[in-house]
Amino acid sequence: MVYLVEDFYSIQGEGKFAGTPSIFFRFGGCNLRCPSFGDHFIKGKLVYGCDSVHAVNRKLFAKEWRQVGRRELVEILKSHLEHLDFKPHVVLTGGEPLLYWEDPEFAGFVEELVDRGLIVTIETNGTIEVDFAKYGAYREVIFALAVKLSNSGEPYEARVNRKAIDAIIRNTQYSFFKFTLSRNLIDLRAYDEIVDIIAPYPEVEVFCMPLGDRIEELRKHDKAVAEFCLIHGFIYSDRLQVRLWNRERRR
Ligand code: SF4
Repeated sequence: MVYLVEDFYSIQGEGKFAGTPSIFFRFGGCNLRCPSFGDHFIKGKLVYGCDSVHAVNRKLFAKEWRQVGRRELVEILKSHLEHLDFKPHVVLTGGEPLLYWEDPEFAGFVEELVDRGLIVTIETNGTIEVDFAKYGAYREVIFALAVKLSNSGEPYEARVNRKAIDAIIRNTQYSFFKFTLSRNLIDLRAYDEIVDIIAPYPEVEVFCMPLGDRIEELRKHDKAVAEFCLIHGFIYSDRLQVRLWNRERRR
């Protein structure tokens, strides 16, 4: 059963393709919670979690989650494409979209996107192992490996799955790492934590971006992250969607 939370056309705000016009499909559900990533007042309650909490917390956002199959996903895709006279990128995000990697409806949709010659990115926390031999279309996808660090509030065993990361990097050509950093973690152990994850893959690009789903918070961390990148040779990634639209959700 595949749950879609929202779809929208916007620019990719983060990572290697920042600034690129993209159609987003946000899928519901995540195997992590990342309790240290933010606080949100929802229906009078303080809820901790990531900036996509509406795609993680099904209880609170049940009305926004809808079950979809391949056919409906393709119809949504077409409805976006018909307004454009070029091929935008397609981003499958969440939540954790790889919860559905094995679902024939989701895998079939990925296959359709690839067959149409679209550039597809799957944004993942890198903890779910994909069998690339089973569904070859995933080899043509770019994975934005947003592996979580200790500032997510998740324990190491939950946030780092070496087999899953390895399968993605060994089977795809343009995947990259994207880490979310806070000023405090930089002061403490960010570099060691990142190196622990990336060491086996010197050929893979590493992007670091500041924590924050609102401008004020982003500004607290952005310069420290940029300086950290300058020292260690990582690539700074901003969060353009936050700079441009702050907490406003795109539809
Ligand atoms: S892994 Fe990503 S989507 Fe899941 S809770 Fe953490 S930040 Fe949110």
